[in-house]
Amino acid sequence: MNNDILHRYLFDNADVRGEIVQLENSYQEVLSAHDYPVALQHLLGELMAATSLLTATIKFTGDISVQLQGDGPVSLAVINGNNEQVLRGVSRWKGEIADDASLQEMLGKGYMVITLTPDEGERYQGIVSLDHVNLAACLEEYFNQSEQLPTQIQLFANGKQAAGMLLQVLPTKSEQNDDFEHLSTLTATIKAEELFTLEAPEVLHRLYHQEEVRLFDPVDVTFKCTCSRDRSAAAIKTLSQAEIEAILAEDDKIDMGCEYCNQVYTFDAIDVAALYAGSHSSDAKQ
Ligand SMILES: [Zn+2]
Repeated sequence: MNNDILHRYLFDNADVRGEIVQLENSYQEVLSAHDYPVALQHLLGELMAATSLLTATIKFTGDISVQLQGDGPVSLAVINGNNEQVLRGVSRWKGEIADDASLQEMLGKGYMVITLTPDEGERYQGIVSLDHVNLAACLEEYFNQSEQLPTQIQLFANGKQAAGMLLQVLPTKSEQNDDFEHLSTLTATIKAEELFTLEAPEVLHRLYHQEEVRLFDPVDVTFKCTCSRDRSAAAIKTLSQAEIEAILAEDDKIDMGCEYCNQVYTFDAIDVAALYAGSHSSDAKQ
């Protein structure tokens, strides 16, 4: 059974589309890397749901990152994903954070930075301030600015599960859309508990039983870290010879830890020497 799925849906009689995402295992994988405070667990869940919804709106092959940066106790929260709904994420924080801390109490004055990186073509970056009531409102503002499409976002997370919904006017029909008003009023009645416990067809039936809705086959959402020993080796090679020698003198080895998944890649002096043995020309020592 898969508890991590994203559904897209369309209304037959309205120029509006929707998405619904429900996450559990992938969310738990992200949380398991660090002992996150409760409020930050919730924020990361909302951010995962948000990234999944956003990723499902893109039409290119490539990567997406949704990053929150601020001057509060939480300095960074980021979820990286790609068009195949593979996600990973991490957050950095300092000190105590109340269980019911708001977005602003955690991030302080900050920004949401959304970066779209197609495998081919130009990179796009959108930035919105975090001075909205919650993360969902920040993401709505992003869609307002970047695509100018009326969009409604709902995000929920409780430390065990995360879920979200997106409702958006179809690109070609954006001017005046009364259907959207009506459908977003219906969608706003969804409760976290319903999204955590009901399957997508049932959610849609509850919300839109008087509408004609077409639900597409679901897409799996998975957690996967993109770290590797090769990438760690490449990072070591960016250090100077003096830095490498200093670390080896102190510890006899270099440990490269991944903050997304806690994997540690260990390189001893022989491993490090081997890194340079294969590349005589381009990696001249500084
Ligand atoms: Zn990793």
